[in-house]
Amino acid sequence: MSSRKGHISVNTTDIFPIIKKWLYSEHDIFIRELVSNACDAISKRAAVARTSGDKIEEGEVQVLIDKEAKTITFKDNGIGMSEEEVEKYIAQLAFSGAEEFVQKMKESGEDNSEIIGKFGLGFYSAFMVASKVEVESLSMNEGAKPTKWICEGNTDYEFTDSDKDSIGTEITLYINDENTEFLDSWKSRETLKNYCSFLPYPIKLIDLNEVARITAENAKAEKEEDKKPVPNNDIINDTKPLWKKDPSTLKDEDYISFYKKLYPMDQEPLFWLHLNVDHPFTLQGVLFFPKLNPNKPTNESNIKLFCRQVFVSDNVKNVIPEFLSLLKGAIDSTDIPLNVSRSALQGDPNIKKISNYIVKKVAESLKKLYKNDRKRYESVWEDIGLFVKYGVISDPKFDDLMRNRVLFKNTDQNYVTLSEYADSIPENYKEKMKGKVVYFEENSSDDALRSQLKDEGIQVLTTDAYIDPHFTQHVEMNKKDDTEIKFQLVDNAVEDLLEVENSSEDDMKIKDLFQEILVGKKDEKDPAQMEIEVKNFKNASTAAYFKVDESMKRFQQMTKSMGQSNFSMPTKKTLVLNPSHALVQNAFKLSGSKDKKDLA
Ligand code: ADP
Repeated sequence: MSSRKGHISVNTTDIFPIIKKWLYSEHDIFIRELVSNACDAISKRAAVARTSGDKIEEGEVQVLIDKEAKTITFKDNGIGMSEEEVEKYIAQLAFSGAEEFVQKMKESGEDNSEIIGKFGLGFYSAFMVASKVEVESLSMNEGAKPTKWICEGNTDYEFTDSDKDSIGTEITLYINDENTEFLDSWKSRETLKNYCSFLPYPIKLIDLNEVARITAENAKAEKEEDKKPVPNNDIINDTKPLWKKDPSTLKDEDYISFYKKLYPMDQEPLFWLHLNVDHPFTLQGVLFFPKLNPNKPTNESNIKLFCRQVFVSDNVKNVIPEFLSLLKGAIDSTDIPLNVSRSALQGDPNIKKISNYIVKKVAESLKKLYKNDRKRYESVWEDIGLFVKYGVISDPKFDDLMRNRVLFKNTDQNYVTLSEYADSIPENYKEKMKGKVVYFEENSSDDALRSQLKDEGIQVLTTDAYIDPHFTQHVEMNKKDDTEIKFQLVDNAVEDLLEVENSSEDDMKIKDLFQEILVGKKDEKDPAQMEIEVKNFKNASTAAYFKVDESMKRFQQMTKSMGQSNFSMPTKKTLVLNPSHALVQNAFKLSGSKDKKDLA
């Protein structure tokens, strides 16, 4: 057997210790790197065969685990490498990438979290877990000689002859003592499932010890039916994930079962959209609108990012706008640069284009649903409303497309948009209510006031305490199509719209009476102090109600919705009395008696 020694020419001598330490928390990515290299090699061979017209075997990657020998082998039937190619690509070129990485690690000092995970270290990630690595390969080129390269985790290496007789590459890692967990097949299976679930060629995980044990047992078995099947067909992945398929061939069930595979704990998604674009960037993906789980608020991102079917990250924060992170699903693009820092990602023109494209597609699919199936749109509104409003507030393009598809429940419990609301205003109030939207906050008890307005044909919209304070403010401050909109609390609206000039002398007296009983002496310095007003209204069915200072109330809502619930300010309250109501009248008549306090 002949052997030839070589030396990796790098300037950094401590490269191996750094690789070994690198990504302590994420050292499982060596599996991703080696399996995706294997898939690349298979697709290169397939591409060559396509042009030459040669017939080749089906591509396949095997991950062979031998716990006793403490090795993991990644075996592919791809393009293979000659000795010169191993020398060039593995021993020298790949190292220059690794060296560049180490250099960056050093420059960034202690805080290297930015680089970690962004840098494809490729082949050399094997040295994070292995004390020795062997690469045995036979190139697909005619007359090629097999070769074996051995490196023991330092800059010296050795080539020896090989008797490998099948085309492809086998990379064997001698797992070091700190990483023996990967010799357990469940651990490797988990890791493969995480990173390689959707790679384009079948990936088989084979436990060699288990195979040997069953084979030995089978040899001893006396009867044929006592023999057990040898486990060699455990395919980890789905080679053609949903996003790669033609949407016209897919049924709802296909999307639902794909969703369940990605998110086994979730309820069925509400609906989805299939993304597919080739120009000016390539991107495929499926985004799902999930059913919201009120017990598990989602503020972390749920979209999985792939690059040529290799799982890359759960973190799409810089790729899509934050409001879209409420969605779930998968995006696959070769145009997302993953090897650069986060800040560079934000300024990347491709990322901007991709992000805009996704926003547009999401809005279009919502628009389509709104237009074609309003009933269904309304039925999912509770789940998507938060997301849509958040999008309108945070993204001007989304705002353009979706503002007029935001729904609110009106007094009749029907869902309406803001323009439908405006259209519903009765003719005789159109002028007075131009641009005005009357609302009341969910769970506050202003029913009487609402029905008072309802009698006049004026609806009141229900708002929530979380997103609506922000949404209404956004709409007021950013007008669209020259329509100015002003939201007004129901109590102020009643006063504005329904007050009638019908005062009598008694009104003043009633006011004084209640002032005396309920407030006592007026204290100008106390802003929280209650005020009393006496007003006559059309359709007045209530004896009295409390009115609060709207801007104060809104300010409080805002701070509350931003999580500052213990921040409170005195709010001025006004008790508005209806002098024509029987209760108030009676109180007034009894004003001379001793019971007046109780009565009031
Ligand atoms: P990258 O994959 O980013 O190019 P790597 O360090 O992972 O960097 O690999 C360096 C090169 O080694 C690859 O570009 C490829 O040419 C070669 N290579 C690695 N693994 C294989 C393999 N299994 N079969 C054939 N060639 C391989």
